[in-house]
Order: sequence, then structure tokens, then C-alpha cells
Amino acid sequence: MSHKLDISVVVPLYNEEESLPELVAWIDRVCLAEHLSYEVILVDDGSNDGSWGVIETLKTRYPAIRAIRFARNYGKSGALYCGFAVARGEVVFTMDADLQDSPDEIPEMRRMILDEGYDLVSGWKKRRFDPIGKRWPSKFFNFTARLVSGIKLHDFNCGLKAYRRRVVKAVEVFGEGRQGMGGLFGKEKDENY
Ligand code: UDP
Ligand code: MG
Repeated sequence: MSHKLDISVVVPLYNEEESLPELVAWIDRVCLAEHLSYEVILVDDGSNDGSWGVIETLKTRYPAIRAIRFARNYGKSGALYCGFAVARGEVVFTMDADLQDSPDEIPEMRRMILDEGYDLVSGWKKRRFDPIGKRWPSKFFNFTARLVSGIKLHDFNCGLKAYRRRVVKAVEVFGEGRQGMGGLFGKEKDENY
């Protein structure tokens, strides 16, 4: 099946006005260099800083931007869920807005999905800049998540992931019955893309 768009990058964000211009410019640079057609789906999870204003300015400069704005803060997973629902790319990435994830990884992760047949490729924060108080709980979480799920992922919590399109669309169907999510698609969300 051929898709018009090579990739979607879904970015959940909450009060990230400072990092958004650099993040979007960086994604754009990588996609241009690799001749990838792309969209960046910025999901503003009810920010109360100037993030939405920054997004509106960026939209005039980068036609690849689509933006969704929540009326209040729902949390990262709600933002991802809505981003997945509208994503049109053949490979769908998720990436944090705070520049902890590098867009330079996009081409190789895409290649692993398309050429090596993976459904999901996950990033992994190899060098952590977080304080030790955050690193040890994170190690414990990852250990437990591996044990319970049987999935051998090094870093479950890494924001950088690449999914084959049909995987995120399956997540969408699966998530539809979840409590609270219906509201996101109904009245409470202010969409603008
Ligand atoms: N985020 C969000 N809603 C929230 C909290 C965070 O959309 O209520 C976004 C945040 O802006 C960032 C990503 O989710 O793009 C990861 O958040 P954070 O950096 O706080 O998580 P950590 O790096 O500690 O896992
Ligand atoms: Mg972070």
C-alpha cells in the first residue's frame, strides 16, 4: 500500500514554549535531508505558558505542522492517543517536546520498521542526565514492566518510539472503550489542525 506521507511525528507537550522552535526546525532538517515527506502533530495538553502562541507562529512557517489543543491538562497518554487518531504517515513516531529525544534517530528507526519488519522500535536514553532520585525508580519500573509484560524493552518510558501505521491504528480501536477518552474526542477538546 502506498501512503502519501512517509512519517508522522506525534509530540505531546505541556508548557514547552522554549524548546518547540528548535524541535520543529530539527525534525524539518532531518526530513529534508532524507527526502522524507512528513507531518508534525503537536498536541498541546492544556499548556498555560506561551506554547500555543509559539505553535501558531511556527505553523505559518512550517506547513507540515498540524496542531491540537486541549482545553485542559489530560496527561501525556491522552495527548498521544489523539495524535495517533489523526496521524496519516506510513510510520508514526512519538517524541517528547523537551529535546531529550533526538530527531536524528528518525531515519534509522524508520528503516528498521520498513526493511527489518519490526512493528515497534523504541528509543533508549543511554546517557541519562536525570538525577539519581529519578534513575533508580526508573530502573525498578523497567525491570518490573519487563517481568510483567514479557516484552524485552530496555526503556519503556522513553518518549521516542516508531510504530508501523497499522499498530497505532489498532491502539486507537483498542483504546476507544477506555474510560475518560470519549470525552477527549467529544466536547472537551478544542481542535485546530
Ligand atoms: N507532557 C504532556 N502532558 C503532561 C506532562 C507532560 O503532554 O501532563 C509532555 C511533555 O511536555 C513532554 C513529554 O510529555 O513532551 C514527556 O514529559 P516529561 O519530559 O515531563 O517526562 P519525562 O522526561 O520525565 O519522562
Ligand atoms: Mg522529559
